[in-house]
Amino acid sequence: MSSEVVPFAKTGGLADVAGALPGALKKLGVDVRLVIPFYRVVRRGNFEVKKVAHEIKIPFGSTVLKANVFETRTSEGVPVYLIEREDMYDRPGIYGSGAVDYYDNLERFTFFAKAALHASEHLEFKPDVIHCNDWQTGLTPALLKGPYASRPSFQKTATVFTIHNIGYQGVFPAEKLSLTGLPVNEFFIKEGVEYWGQVSLLKAGIVYSEAVTTVSGRYAREILTPEFGRGMEGILKSREADLHGILNGADYAQWNPATDNNLAANYTLKRLLGKEHCKESLLEEVGLKSSLRNRPLLSVVSRLDSQKGIDLLLDVLHEVLSLDTGVLILGSGDKEIEQAVSRASSRYPGRLACKIGFDEPLAHRVMAGADICLIPSRYEPCGLTQIYALKYGAIPVVHATGGLDDTVIQFNSKTSRGNGFKFNGFEAARFLGAIRKAVDLFKDQKAWKTVQANGMKADFSWDGPASNYLDLYRSLVDKQQLEP
Ligand code: ADP
Repeated sequence: MSSEVVPFAKTGGLADVAGALPGALKKLGVDVRLVIPFYRVVRRGNFEVKKVAHEIKIPFGSTVLKANVFETRTSEGVPVYLIEREDMYDRPGIYGSGAVDYYDNLERFTFFAKAALHASEHLEFKPDVIHCNDWQTGLTPALLKGPYASRPSFQKTATVFTIHNIGYQGVFPAEKLSLTGLPVNEFFIKEGVEYWGQVSLLKAGIVYSEAVTTVSGRYAREILTPEFGRGMEGILKSREADLHGILNGADYAQWNPATDNNLAANYTLKRLLGKEHCKESLLEEVGLKSSLRNRPLLSVVSRLDSQKGIDLLLDVLHEVLSLDTGVLILGSGDKEIEQAVSRASSRYPGRLACKIGFDEPLAHRVMAGADICLIPSRYEPCGLTQIYALKYGAIPVVHATGGLDDTVIQFNSKTSRGNGFKFNGFEAARFLGAIRKAVDLFKDQKAWKTVQANGMKADFSWDGPASNYLDLYRSLVDKQQLEP
């Protein structure tokens, strides 16, 4: 279960993961099915849907609400169940409108967590494992330990809860707990869903699932510390034996410069001419001066959130542009960061371009046209943009944290090994130092091509991570079978 899935609804990397992992599991022979809310963007998307359940009844607080279930399929043929309830999901946004979350997100995702279980029963699908993702689905493991514990369909069902970003904790007022159906005495405790007097659905997922995973090995270690755990390090420590770091993959059916139909030209490592064409076309598209085709083009594709460290880039922007480079920022999110980026771009016409908005095709063209991809995140659970950048021959410059540290290998000119540049310590001067190294390397085109090739050859496909997940599911299924 996931609150967002490519190609149906996306705000970030979670959707990429939830869109690609099921297909990779199917290839391994797993009967996998997805469930997501039937948001307005999905209704309005061009997807073929059919109704598979009519007005199933879902207990909700002191009342009973109804939901319809529709079915569609992914391009790999994975069934996707869409939970329909207009008053909850037929809205302009997924989590909120503009910068403000919907006031009733606890209700919306409690309903989703329950409806997924009821839909499963209705469709007579008895899952061995329910894989939940982030706080929006965190209630499901708790429901299976509480009000749904005795339901025959789920007697042997294990849950896996994946933390894609511990910064989003699904915290709501304690009074709302009654809507979930979890008995207060048993669940509203320090070792349960209670979090500083409130309810955290992320914590529910961590506490009540059979296994907890997160999206890189380093992040799995980081979130056990006060610096990165965001207050969840204590409860995570208690689950350390069941906590696994499994690095995300990239969906190369979507992200491959040889076949990507968003690009001005396709290219491969052996035939890189197309990349030059992509760069020229991108410079024109975003209004950067054409002379930059001979100089490094640095790019950012990102949610504009303080997590992503865009402030660090703004701090060094002047120095970076003084190196005779171009910078392109594609992003959306926090209004203050959006404004700061827009203001900066008006100061450097032709050399700094910013595109505010969420534009998937443009994100692909940026990867293809850029020489260097900047990712100065304060923390980064996995990060997909550096993985895409590597495939598209854009050299990543990243803060050595979380999945960025696990995927980017510092270039070593003596051994010719490495696929990018990293800086340790979240400081502007260190970031600038790493950028300078990348920009300097551009002068030595032979070395540049080596780094580029190292990145383009790397394989981050889903095959490896999918079999890691399958091993985990199997171990849980075996354990469940042994339970009385
Ligand atoms: P996060 O999940 O924290 O946002 P990731 O690096 O894991 O970060 O994933 C980000 C995903 O969202 C990538 O697929 C990236 O291309 C995409 N993305 C981010 N911002 C934009 C944007 N403004 N327009 C299009 N795609 C975007």
